[in-house]
Amino acid sequence: MRDINLPGMRHPEKAHRPDNAQPKKPAWIRVKAPTSEGYKRTRDILRDKRLVTVCEEAGCPNVGECWSQGHATMMIMGEICTRGCTFCNVATGKPQTLDAFEPAGSPMPSANLA
Ligand code: SF4
Repeated sequence: MRDINLPGMRHPEKAHRPDNAQPKKPAWIRVKAPTSEGYKRTRDILRDKRLVTVCEEAGCPNVGECWSQGHATMMIMGEICTRGCTFCNVATGKPQTLDAFEPAGSPMPSANLA
């Protein structure tokens, strides 16, 4: 049986009523927009080499932190994934034609990001 005095047991609309205030979310749950020089440097390298990253395709919230340290996770063979994992934001579908020159471009950014 439901106890409507417990916020978790109430309908979402009713849970936001003033007579049933919800606890404030912790500050760390919000991610600030990335603005660091390290982030911009990583972004420029990836754009310059026209590389696809999981970071962007999946909309990862850690991108500001990772890219500011020169860390990024590359996707090879295009930006479309053949899997349909519901927790992931990477586009699902039929892959595009492979870029025959992609392998030649990947090692360079790795060296630049290190
Ligand atoms: S490298 Fe960082 S930003 Fe990229 S997918 Fe992994 S956790 Fe997210």
